[in-house]
Amino acid sequence: MSRRISFYELTLEDLTKLLQDFGEPIFRARQLWRNAYKRLLDNPEEMTDIPRDLQRRISETFTFTSLETQATARSDDGSTEKVLFSLSDGQMIEAVLMRYQRRRTVCISTQIGCAMGCVFCATGQMGLERNLTPGEMVEQVIHFARYLAKEDQRMTNLVIMGMGEPFHNYQATMQAIKRLNDPTGFKFGARRITISSIGIVPMIKRFAQENYQVNLAVSLHAATDELRSELVPINQRYPLDELIPSCQEYVQQTGRRITFEWALIHKVNDGLDQAQALVDLIQGLNCHVNLIPLNPTQGYVGRATSQERAKSFHDFLTKHKVPCTIRVRQGVDINAGCGQLATEK
Ligand code: SAH
Ligand code: SF4
Repeated sequence: MSRRISFYELTLEDLTKLLQDFGEPIFRARQLWRNAYKRLLDNPEEMTDIPRDLQRRISETFTFTSLETQATARSDDGSTEKVLFSLSDGQMIEAVLMRYQRRRTVCISTQIGCAMGCVFCATGQMGLERNLTPGEMVEQVIHFARYLAKEDQRMTNLVIMGMGEPFHNYQATMQAIKRLNDPTGFKFGARRITISSIGIVPMIKRFAQENYQVNLAVSLHAATDELRSELVPINQRYPLDELIPSCQEYVQQTGRRITFEWALIHKVNDGLDQAQALVDLIQGLNCHVNLIPLNPTQGYVGRATSQERAKSFHDFLTKHKVPCTIRVRQGVDINAGCGQLATEK
């Protein structure tokens, strides 16, 4: 275990104070910030605008690689790469890079495991180990940014949809977004970030009040309380007649469209009765529904919908003027698909 501080845990203000304590002028903090977040350097010796003795001090004080890559997997079609990282306490998380046409989307985790216990989700099947820190989230992104930079490519989108429920680790997630968005640093546009939540109503309301342009996706999966509570236990605490109004509030407050995620499970939630209930539920809301054929996980017997059933669900929504798409599955052969991320203890 390293005694050095992870650089990515610091705000620019923290860093400024720390360097001032070293007796350094204020501009050094900004210099170091740019080296880390713009040039993506992880070795202080390469920070050529910083004097040698300070480079050494930086090396002694900070680590720029507190996440260690333990394993990587690439899907057969090469579009998806999954990385298993170990953290400074030895715990593991996964993050994913997806290439689709010109998009380079990075998917990061916010928790080790998840407390929400959705029955079809591998992360939920693990239970919650602990929250990730803002720095641990930021560094997942920086890892892939560095990786892409070596191929002269850039990350185009960030989805906060890996392991964990971001709204169950709200503050750390918001801090990570703020740091990645910082115009003096990494400067990643909020509009290119999407955060996915299972529907923790008070946090959706709070998120609606934040002054961010970040996109919100809510994982719905069922349009009746009876079925949703079976699949997504948190629905018992925040049922649909609280969840949907909070989504409406988000749309009204932000003027942004909301996304609903729906994992299509064969003969569980892929019938036209659910499609009809969904139409009734979200009628008139500025939204888009993403239909994702269920990805297999060890702890759940349900299986993916068939192509025909997915199509008729999709067509029903379309006929009733609910915008929707059947999402392309990526990375399923390496268990990097939605809901497939899990790490052994
Ligand atoms: N906790 C957040 C974000 C992580 S899960 C959330 O639940 O929204 C990311 C997405 O994968 C969610 O939409 C989730 O419902 C979905 N998902 C979980 N398990 C899945 C599975 N086995 N197949 C397809 N999608 C799944
Ligand atoms: Fe947690 Fe999301 Fe998985 Fe549900 S689907 S258990 S909220 S990670």
